[in-house]
Formats: sequence, structure tokens, C-alpha cells
Amino acid sequence: MENCLFCKIIGGEIPSAKVYEDDDTFAFQDINPQAPTHILVVPKAHISSMDDIDQASDQQLAACLRAIRVIARQQKLEKGYRVVSNCGPDACQSVPHLHFHILGGAQMADRMA
Ligand code: AMP
Ligand code: ZN
Repeated sequence: MENCLFCKIIGGEIPSAKVYEDDDTFAFQDINPQAPTHILVVPKAHISSMDDIDQASDQQLAACLRAIRVIARQQKLEKGYRVVSNCGPDACQSVPHLHFHILGGAQMADRMA
């Protein structure tokens, strides 16, 4: 997708600190970390948000979840982690390419919003 920040990161046009890649997914360090570990996992196919997952295959979607687990092991998040996907303006989604935040490395607040 032209002019999509995360498509450009996946394509290497914009640099990123890559932590993981497979056939369907790409993962990199968030540029503005909100926790000691803050990684973004994205499908390589351009899908705008959770609200558009009808455009994705089950394989592509499952690959994101499987990648999250692999990355959590790699990053040694044995004590736990949070997975967040902001969807749309109420959730403050700022990049319109589906992504999953992996947040960990510290005790988090006992609330979701
Ligand atoms: P969201 O607000 O849920 O759409 O998340 C977008 C995330 O992308 C934010 O946490 C940003 O810090 C992150 N971000 C924006 N630009 C970059 C970039 N060039 N490299 C890595 N992360 C980025
Ligand atoms: Zn994209």
C-alpha cells in the first residue's frame, strides 16, 4: 500500500529495529516505547485495522498471534506481557496498518483504559 508507514517499514524503505520476521509477519521496536519492552507485530499484507480483518486470511491473522508468542519467548517475557491493538479514532489508532503492541518488562496497571 502506497504511503503507508508500516508497509514502508516492512519493505525496508523506512528503517526499523527489526526483532522478528516470517513469511506473513514483521516485528520491530516501537519508536516511542511505553514499557521496557515495546514491540509492534504487523501482518506483511496491508490490512488497515482490526475492523478490516475480513480482508485477511486466517493464515495471515494466525501468523500474527503465533509471532507474538515467539517474540515473547525471545524477549524473555516470562513474567507476562500485554497485547494491544488500537482500532479506530476512539482507541487512538495513529497508524492505519493493523498492528499488535507487545508490552512487557514491568508490572502494569490493573486496568485496560
Ligand atoms: P497506534 O497508536 O496504536 O496506531 O500505534 C502506532 C505506534 O507506532 C505508536 O506506538 C508509535 O510510537 C509507533 N511508531 C510510529 N512511527 C514509528 C516508526 N517509524 N518506527 C517504529 N514505531 C513507530
Ligand atoms: Zn500498510
